[in-house]
Amino acid sequence: MEMFKYTQAAGIPQAIQAAAQSSTAQQGAQVRFIAGGTTLLDLMKLNVERPTQVVDINRLPLDKVEKLPDGRLKIGALVRNSDLAHDPTVSSDYSVLSQALLAGASAQLRNMATTGGNLLQRTRCMYFRNDAMACNKREPGSGCSAIEGDNRTLAILGTSKDCIATNPSDMNVALTALEATIHIQGPKGQREVPIGEFFLVPGNTPQRENVLEPGDLITFVTLPALKPNSKQVYLKLRDRASYEFALSSAAIVAEVSGGKLVFVRVALGGVGTKPWRSLEAEKALHGKAVDEKTFRQAAEAALHGAQPQSENGFKVELAKRCITHALTLATQQA
Ligand SMILES: Cc1cc2nc3c(=O)[nH]c(=O)nc-3n(C[C@H](O)[C@H](O)[C@H](O)COP(=O)(O)OP(=O)(O)OC[C@H]3O[C@@H](n4cnc5c(N)ncnc54)[C@H](O)[C@@H]3O)c2cc1C
Ligand code: SF4
Repeated sequence: MEMFKYTQAAGIPQAIQAAAQSSTAQQGAQVRFIAGGTTLLDLMKLNVERPTQVVDINRLPLDKVEKLPDGRLKIGALVRNSDLAHDPTVSSDYSVLSQALLAGASAQLRNMATTGGNLLQRTRCMYFRNDAMACNKREPGSGCSAIEGDNRTLAILGTSKDCIATNPSDMNVALTALEATIHIQGPKGQREVPIGEFFLVPGNTPQRENVLEPGDLITFVTLPALKPNSKQVYLKLRDRASYEFALSSAAIVAEVSGGKLVFVRVALGGVGTKPWRSLEAEKALHGKAVDEKTFRQAAEAALHGAQPQSENGFKVELAKRCITHALTLATQQA
């Protein structure tokens, strides 16, 4: 590994200035921000990331959760996953986010991991993490070892012939169901990107995972105000009960009136190349009566375009059952 220079950012403009020198904010960037370090340091040890400069952003004033006057919730990019999960407003009004965060990693990791770092965590595809293997995401044009290889845990939605890696985050699935907005500050100023437009499917550029440009710093995430008593569930199915990534997960945000679903958001994890919002499932549910047959029809719609690989065909039915059960749990809530 090359030696890297370590810089402590004194303020947001200084942090951006340091990172704007990077050739790209994506895979292989020469300058990297470091927050909790639980993704970046792992990848540096594996030789997958080799930045020449690491900019420590931990002292920036981005560690607060605040309710805004218009009812939105503003979450600083440096809020630790454990603090966010246990924040009183998040626990009560955005419980799907709390549930998703607490289903991820371990208590120690959640104490370090940040909101911005979790958004940008990298795939757990074993070939991406092994620099002896061909991987288009790590080294564009080198090929994809997973398509003909061990792909049991990989994606069935949003894949391409060049990459089938899943986005591994639990938090991102909840943020997608909550229709979060990502606030970015970069060399050209500030901008806001709805989470549905933030992540990119791999296509023929799997090394580019999101819309960030060189020097862009995620500063905040905002969540819209929700109606009181909205029903929220995050259901995560995995090989073991803790310290494991999702094979399939579902985040549900719903409102029921007169026995019918008058508002519903469905997002999936563990099956998509990005946190996967299912507009097809939402359409199949909107205005319909709360019953298992409707839920199953929505699940069928969500997985309609699934393209399983040699070892992950089981995920199609697993994801359907995950959606059906998550909807049942959500709508059973008092
Ligand atoms: C053993 C293990 C098990 C895990 N299990 C799970 C799990 O079950 N579910 C799950 O969801 N996650 C899991 N994780 C992943 C964990 O949630 C992430 O590693 C963590 O959220 C990353 O946050 P961080 O602050 O440590 O990121 P860092 O490692 O500091 O940064 C990650 C990336 O984001 C960039 N970055 C960080 N902050 C910003 C910012 N504000 N603006 C722009 N760029 C930024 C960095 O440059 C880097 O490229 C696991 C991790 C480990 C090691
Ligand atoms: S699935 Fe994507 S990350 Fe995994 S080996 Fe193929 S190109 Fe690399």
